[in-house]
Amino acid sequence: MTFAYSKMHLDRCSNERKNKTWLKSEFDKVETLFCLINDGKCLFKCEELSPLYLHKEQLQPLHIDQCIFLGKSEQKSFFAIDQSKLRFSSQEELLALGQWQSLRQHTALLSTFDAGILALAKGLVHWHKSHQFCGRCGNLSRATEAGHARKCSECRNLTFPRTDPAVIMLVEKMFSDGIARCLLGRQPNWPEGVYSTLAGFVDPGETLEAAVIREVLEESAVIAENPSYVASQPWPFPASIMLGFIAQASSEEINTSQDSLEHAQWFSREQITNFEVHSTVINTKAEQNMLAENLPQDSTKKEPKFKMSSSDSISAYLITAWLNKEIGIYT
Ligand SMILES: [Zn+2]
Repeated sequence: MTFAYSKMHLDRCSNERKNKTWLKSEFDKVETLFCLINDGKCLFKCEELSPLYLHKEQLQPLHIDQCIFLGKSEQKSFFAIDQSKLRFSSQEELLALGQWQSLRQHTALLSTFDAGILALAKGLVHWHKSHQFCGRCGNLSRATEAGHARKCSECRNLTFPRTDPAVIMLVEKMFSDGIARCLLGRQPNWPEGVYSTLAGFVDPGETLEAAVIREVLEESAVIAENPSYVASQPWPFPASIMLGFIAQASSEEINTSQDSLEHAQWFSREQITNFEVHSTVINTKAEQNMLAENLPQDSTKKEPKFKMSSSDSISAYLITAWLNKEIGIYT
């Protein structure tokens, strides 16, 4: 199973990229491509929803210090650029070439090659924008090592791109009626009917397994046991990795009043079979409303009561894998 953003087709060339001569020669090659990021959005072609990679001559004047090396595929190197680092005239010209779009809105249409590159570019550009000052002395830091580190201009403190670990877990329970059910919940700002597996960030000094048990308890008051790892997914929104687990519940009663969930519920496999699956990723009610305004109105169409979490997420994978009895102990 390959998740969105999880397949990296580029060779990151982690050793070579520290060599400035090697890096400059890659930067100067005519076949080298540049991936632009604008305030978290990616540059797509105007005529079709596929990424628009540019050549250096389309971005002149361009200096290597403005660029982040992403990796190399079939002798072709890819760099990322924060468009705010380009001259204003270059930024204006970009609008004639392509359009800025949210990565998540179009992930389902992208190849794993493009999704992996855009996620890496977006994650690294975000890190540079949000870590411009040294965390030790507060002075300005500068990008180094091909954009994969920042060094303080004063105390020389070196920092590296960070990833925030978050656990995401499918909790199952065999009920006294002989039917296995799993625990799903929803946040208040999600589109109506969408339910997902529970999730939360790992605390410092905490094991992943302890984070699973703590998050389930905090969000739902359900006691989870025996968490076991299933799979992981990079989640560059803005800088996480989702660590997927399955666990069994030793309690049944749900209480969501102590944390951020609007509602949580036990669902049987039969119920989940009737969930609507999103083909388009819709993050919030505002985005859902915007989409609804552009769709033909059909008053005869009934809204399904429950909907699966977005198709690009590991949550959808965990739910589907449990539904198909590929994970879990209760069948
Ligand atoms: Zn410093």
